[in-house]
Amino acid sequence: MPWVFNISLTGRNLYKASFYPGPSRVYSKVTEYIYDAYREGILSINHRSKEFAELMVDLKAQLHYKLDIPSDYEMIFASSATECWEMIAQSLVRTSSFHIYNGAFGKKWETYTSRIVQKTGGHHFDCQQELDVGALDLPENIECICITHNETSNGTQLSNDVIKALREKYPEHLIAVDATSSMAGVVLDFSIADVWFASVQKCFGLPAGLAVMILSPAAVTQAANIDDRNKYNSLSFVLENYRINQAPYTPNVLNLYLLNRSMNKNKLIGEIEDKTEARYQEWCSHISSLRGLELMIKNDAVRSKTVLCIEGEQELIESVKREARSNGIIIGNGYGELKETTFRIANFPAIKSKEIASFQKFLSRKYS
Ligand SMILES: *Cc1c(COP(=O)(O)O)cnc(C)c1O
Repeated sequence: MPWVFNISLTGRNLYKASFYPGPSRVYSKVTEYIYDAYREGILSINHRSKEFAELMVDLKAQLHYKLDIPSDYEMIFASSATECWEMIAQSLVRTSSFHIYNGAFGKKWETYTSRIVQKTGGHHFDCQQELDVGALDLPENIECICITHNETSNGTQLSNDVIKALREKYPEHLIAVDATSSMAGVVLDFSIADVWFASVQKCFGLPAGLAVMILSPAAVTQAANIDDRNKYNSLSFVLENYRINQAPYTPNVLNLYLLNRSMNKNKLIGEIEDKTEARYQEWCSHISSLRGLELMIKNDAVRSKTVLCIEGEQELIESVKREARSNGIIIGNGYGELKETTFRIANFPAIKSKEIASFQKFLSRKYS
């Protein structure tokens, strides 16, 4: 029997607005950039060419400038945040890493690492409470402390102060931060940790298939000391390539180009954060006006600015999901064990104000 392809999305609008916390809405300009990439011939360039090198130089400079990354930090690109988890486990840890988390993504990182690294330990903390750094007691010989800046599953965020306290308590350890659903949406103080990474389908507002990893001098030294070279994505090898503005294998050139174009267009991260913060405040007050729906995270000191988790009776949550979908609005399911009793809303910069206004109007009409 011949293969039958009957899926055609051409001409169909899948939805009117997406508040899914990744993959999420892409910046509207992306269509223009894709067209330019085609027209300019970017889609066919070789990753050892002069053109690719120029793209890399500009992209790294744009990221440094717009996200305020320290000038002595280096940068590499991968294809997903999950790949970054593995690269850290393979290339920055010899025998033991320690994972501090309050939700599903942090836990998953530990699980992935435990398949590669001999000894992994974990500390789970309450999602309604700030991480108590003073009470932490790390086992001996830990090489890397892994934390999740923005826990996408439950809508919590670590404050810069907490990460700073961790840095002060453990000045000799590498600290790696998964900032997948917050980088490019809020200000991060890169100087207080060693490895930061994010894939681009969340706050960067781009299609999936690319991740950025940012490395402190200490992380680069650790990579050189371990000098893992056995995998196609071993960090020493990858770093050597990106350092000379090449890539170790044929990378996602289109997405690198899109990232460069949108970083070029984007405002400085401080201004983007102001917008994120203002919309976050607006969401909080809007949700408090709804009946039977509440923010799941009660403590506003630990609540995420970029992903909101909303709880209610199972029936009501099901109704919101169903009604939103039939109105062309995509929202995030609750994650893992929170699936039935919560839904999630992305507060990512690429979402349009008018989309937020119409979603809020819909919620008020049905649920207040
Ligand atoms: C989405 C997400 C990931 C996974 O990202 P991929 O690019 O799909 O690998 C990892 N960590 C966090 C915190 C996330 O939000």
